[in-house]
Amino acid sequence: MRSMDVLPLFGPDSFIYVALITLVGMVVFKKLLGRKGRKPVNPAAVAKLIVLGLVGLFTFLIPGDHLVTGVLQVPSLAGPISYDLVPGNGAAGFGFYLVGCFANPASPIPTEVPSQTDIFNLLFVTKFHGWAGGASSIAVIIVGIALFVLARRYIKWRITLSYFASVAIMAALLHFAYPGGDLILRLGFELLVGSSIFLAFFMATDPASTPMTYKGQIIFGLGLGVMTVLIQTYMGFFGGSILALVIMNLATPFIDKVGLQKPSTEKKEPKLPKAIQQTQVKVYECMRCGACLRVCCHKLSPILIKEAFDTMKVEGLVKLNADYCTGCGHCSFVCPARLDLKGSVLRAKAMLRNQ
Ligand code: SF4
Ligand code: SF4
Repeated sequence: MRSMDVLPLFGPDSFIYVALITLVGMVVFKKLLGRKGRKPVNPAAVAKLIVLGLVGLFTFLIPGDHLVTGVLQVPSLAGPISYDLVPGNGAAGFGFYLVGCFANPASPIPTEVPSQTDIFNLLFVTKFHGWAGGASSIAVIIVGIALFVLARRYIKWRITLSYFASVAIMAALLHFAYPGGDLILRLGFELLVGSSIFLAFFMATDPASTPMTYKGQIIFGLGLGVMTVLIQTYMGFFGGSILALVIMNLATPFIDKVGLQKPSTEKKEPKLPKAIQQTQVKVYECMRCGACLRVCCHKLSPILIKEAFDTMKVEGLVKLNADYCTGCGHCSFVCPARLDLKGSVLRAKAMLRNQ
């Protein structure tokens, strides 16, 4: 059974996917997991996987007719891809299928092989794929950069940069592994396809489900890029970045251990941001921005100490050297969630002293 026998693949009916993904992501994952405290995975990514996974039960990740061996004979990424037909890989050039997939459905079907300009105009400006991330790449980039500038202290831009770098390197390696194709086309596809560019700016930088340390963020971005390209290429799954994101989200607690500073009894004053007058102080859940890790004058990890203290993990408190805290309060000062980190760490220190 093919996916189109189960759920529609063509607009406007196929917009049912967007509604289903939003419903599952917002209601099931954001609300329910949010109640349990830390979100282990990006709600939108896992919702998309579940909705598409239902279809995938019948088709294995990509509609069977889209495979190079299927009716449509879309060229495989595990082979040379070009604007024009590459013999032995598909029924037409990869560029032709990109136009079929990403051009506005109201525009006429091309009769000639699309040029490099046509393809990059399509991917950058006029891309149309039925959901927010499928819109014009240039619009996604402008909104993404504006958000980075506005919230630069809390947005994890290192993930975006390292993701783009690793996707570009992987695309170049595949180009050399499968000679006879076009490097620029492969780069353009891997970097600008809807699920890739939207994910790089918005979903992959979700603070709650990504690493807090700078080194962890770079490892996360690199791993995400490598896995995205491998999944897209060898599992025939064009939304590979979504599956890769969920895997990297689940690995985040382990990656978070990389890049933590070594606690020290020596006191080193950090550079603090300017104070902001608050008329009302509202406390939120930790948003895993990692700011408290970078301002502790004893290089402690205040949020990890708080978590270990809240769950009474004495061994963890010893490992995290909670007893080095001298109560400077920098961690509480920079915390955007307004958590009483200093209070928790000092209580943890007192508990260790009384052991
Ligand atoms: S209060 Fe303690 S944990 Fe927080 S920044 Fe100061 S020394 Fe570090
Ligand atoms: S405790 Fe506050 S400063 Fe530390 S990671 Fe969480 S939100 Fe950021």
